[in-house]
Amino acid sequence: MSQITLTDVSRAFGKIGVLHDINLDILDGELIVFVGPSGCGKSTLLRLIAGLDLPTGGAIAIDGKDVTTVPAADRGLAMVFQSYALYPHMSVRQNLAFGLENARMARAEIDARIAEAARMLEIAPYLDRRPGQLSGGQRQRVAIGRAIVRNPTAFLLDEPLSNLDAELRISTRAELAALHERLSATMVYVTHDQIEAMTLADRIVVLRAGRIEQIGTPLDLYNHPANLFVAGFIGAPR
Ligand code: ADP
Ligand code: MG
Repeated sequence: MSQITLTDVSRAFGKIGVLHDINLDILDGELIVFVGPSGCGKSTLLRLIAGLDLPTGGAIAIDGKDVTTVPAADRGLAMVFQSYALYPHMSVRQNLAFGLENARMARAEIDARIAEAARMLEIAPYLDRRPGQLSGGQRQRVAIGRAIVRNPTAFLLDEPLSNLDAELRISTRAELAALHERLSATMVYVTHDQIEAMTLADRIVVLRAGRIEQIGTPLDLYNHPANLFVAGFIGAPR
């Protein structure tokens, strides 16, 4: 289980405030989407949750424990980056195994997890190739696979489809939705694409300039946008 609670979270870089007083409860098992224009603070917020960065104000708790007291590796979170961030000199199999080997998992368990993820994502034929020998869509599957093999309680995905062409984006989006159903893991999904947000989300968090404009289901936002910005951004009638 993984419930993530943000209380009055702020992040400033020097004098420039990037996130302001973010209050948010991410529920166990939900697929929550952070959406907003480029530069509004989505990635910064995700990095704070991942523990890759620290807030300058407020607190983040996972299952009631302040994240600053839990090492990033022990948070049960796995992040998937837009840039894939695969190791170019390693095979796909080695990329998938790397984090598990570092955690000193038994070889048989590592192999079983890789086989299961490869089957789920249909990347088994590419396990012995290097990332440079794969298409963008295949690389993105490997990046998702690397998160899956860690068996995380929550997935943090930062614009995972934005490097894919339109057709692949739609099919991969559907696969991610199916994966969410199947793993019943919490997913925090960042995108600047309102269609992606409306299609995937249990709940959407609309951000503008580091502040939350509205939190709600896609239907809530469409039928009852809190303001013109939300209405305009998600394309609701005003
Ligand atoms: P988004 O992901 O929504 O496009 P980001 O979270 O990447 O937005 O960035 C939000 C704002 O914070 C931007 O203005 C960006 O320039 C600024 N920012 C992000 N990281 C840093 C940093 N390490 N130092 C200074 N400014 C940063
Ligand atoms: Mg970003």
